Amino acid sequence: MYAVISDIHGNLEALEAVLRDVPDGVERVYCLGDVIGYGANPNECCDIVRESEMPLITGNHDLAVTDLSTDLAWFNPVAATAVEWTREQLSEENAAFLLSRPRMMQTNGALFVHGSIRDPDEYIINTSAARDNLALLKSEYPNVTVCFFGHTHVKTVAPSPNGPVTEDHTLDLSEDGPYLVNPGSVGQPRDGDTFASYVLAEHPEESGARILYRFVEYDVEQAQAKIRKAGLPGMLADRLALGR
Ligand code: ZN
Repeated sequence: MYAVISDIHGNLEALEAVLRDVPDGVERVYCLGDVIGYGANPNECCDIVRESEMPLITGNHDLAVTDLSTDLAWFNPVAATAVEWTREQLSEENAAFLLSRPRMMQTNGALFVHGSIRDPDEYIINTSAARDNLALLKSEYPNVTVCFFGHTHVKTVAPSPNGPVTEDHTLDLSEDGPYLVNPGSVGQPRDGDTFASYVLAEHPEESGARILYRFVEYDVEQAQAKIRKAGLPGMLADRLALGR
């Protein structure tokens, strides 16, 4: 069994709570990128990911902060301000670490991407994007049962085998697949939930894989207070209490 986390975004309180929640017996924690950007503890989050040797791919925020040639005009003003603040904070060691990660990983039966299979910056946020990516998965990666993706900060399973994603919801992926699975965001959920989320995956290399969603409460107020104290845009603190 392994765990998949995504979109930490410098939220140390959420990351620590999630890692405390990971059960014994989990062999590995995969991270789908965006370790930094938005939150007040980019170095602390990066240290944890790096020192625990989590397999990690880079997200668009990781790249925007560490690749100084990134055109910030693509980011909304609040996100761009956060990128610039994070550039000033991030240690050289952590910047080099993030910049050297791949944009995609593959294991026996599973694929890990930040945004989508065809574009790490694509948002799989509607059924047509999901359909296109499932078709691509079938043709380009015939041995892959599950593709884990992040970037939208919205818990998603497509096609949904047995109902919506709810707490401790176990999805039995009984059909042959493939499936797209978004564990939701650790540090900045945008689906109306204020808790952190991640998934546990049981034998995803075989058909009959199981995906178990875990919802984790953390100290939202402390994460908010740090964002305000750092002088980051207040909206980044406000949204944590809204899940938007
Ligand atoms: Zn993100």
